[in-house]
Amino acid sequence: MAKLAGSPDRCGVAILGSTGTIGRNTLDVIRHHPDRYRVVALTAFSQVEMLVAQCVEFKPEIAVVVDQESAESVERHLKSAGSETRVLLGADHLEEIAALSEVDTVMAGIVGAAGLLPTLAAVRSGKRVLVANKEPLVMMGELITEEARANNAILLPIDSEHNAIFQCLPEHFKVGQDIAQVGVRKILLTGSGGPFRGLPLEEFSTVTPEQACQHPNWVMGPKISVDSATMMNKGLEIIEACWLFSTPHTTIEVVVHPQSVIHSMVEYSDGSIIAQLGASDMRIPIAYGLAWPERLDSGVSRLDLGAIAHLDFEPPDPGRFPCLRLARESIESGGTLPTILNAANEIVVDAYLNKRIRFDQIPRIIEEILGIVAYSDDVTLEKVLEADERARASTLERIEQKYSA
Ligand code: NDP
Ligand code: MG
Repeated sequence: MAKLAGSPDRCGVAILGSTGTIGRNTLDVIRHHPDRYRVVALTAFSQVEMLVAQCVEFKPEIAVVVDQESAESVERHLKSAGSETRVLLGADHLEEIAALSEVDTVMAGIVGAAGLLPTLAAVRSGKRVLVANKEPLVMMGELITEEARANNAILLPIDSEHNAIFQCLPEHFKVGQDIAQVGVRKILLTGSGGPFRGLPLEEFSTVTPEQACQHPNWVMGPKISVDSATMMNKGLEIIEACWLFSTPHTTIEVVVHPQSVIHSMVEYSDGSIIAQLGASDMRIPIAYGLAWPERLDSGVSRLDLGAIAHLDFEPPDPGRFPCLRLARESIESGGTLPTILNAANEIVVDAYLNKRIRFDQIPRIIEEILGIVAYSDDVTLEKVLEADERARASTLERIEQKYSA
């Protein structure tokens, strides 16, 4: 691709998944700091109108749209708005823009395994990579952190818990380094427990996707909202933390903290526990990732500790949230099993959102798939993509044959 005209004084940003919750929050932080950041590229899957509006406001050089129909409509709308943004069609261009020389920082904000190859491309091109998209780390976190080291890429965790953990570590800590080397004995990974923390177990079979997507503290996309309701999100986050902080899952304790004020903690060898607190607003970790090691005004309202008054903590209920056990078992076995867990989860969550299966069937189907699909101890890109494809096909087939309503 030809080199783009740029202004070298401002940081060039590409946002993968700019129409999603993470993408929109990233643009909101950038909106308040036009002197520091310029948007080089935006990408969308289906939300055409929103992408057009973002292009008109932020004037990126490139917009990538994944499907043909949407691309034509984006081009038409942009032309009539007098925009000079070039529209590229197809998923391959996601990797291309993640590697552009004009791009310094890549926000990985696509949902699911679809973000794997573009995230990898950003890492291999030595970018500052803001990792919100946790699924690629679940699938091949070891390879991604190795590639980051080899290519001098800077990985910065955006998932609020991992961002909090990172903020609690010494400044010289590098993502992918073993936290034991900086004296950390334990990670206390907090989670709100989602919307069904107190719901009687017998009602789990009747909860609707609309109820599951009503998170008590966070506004998020539909997939991660359902993951929060099953606590698979916390399970994926355990695996994510294993790779970002190079530690076994046994050093990571999940703590249910319904207020989501503490975003996670680390316990040092001397018994000190350091926590990061803040409003439940993703603009805080996003601003931190954009500006690190400096700090930036995120535009978020301040915490009023007096109004919060108290903070609660409890252990997660394993009977209510079997996904936590499934995630621990898959990372314990290793190899491509976390990929199979992730792929099965993406398919069942989609089936649940489309009302093809019940909420309580989500962990049951994932457990069955983990027992059926053969896994490999080798974690190469090829093996991971193969395991992902096989697990998706098996899960779809299982739903069709055994569970479809
Ligand atoms: P959303 O569903 O809100 O947004 C997803 C984005 O990815 C959209 O821009 C969407 O495009 C795009 N997209 C969807 N499918 C594809 C595909 N197949 N190929 C290319 N692009 C695609 O998700 P969130 O913003 O909530 O989450 C994004 C990631 O960040 C997830 O991995 C999530 O786990 C993680 N995360 C999110 C948090 C949050 O608060 N939201 C917190 C911590 C982590 P379009 O909308 O145009 O269809
Ligand atoms: Mg999180």
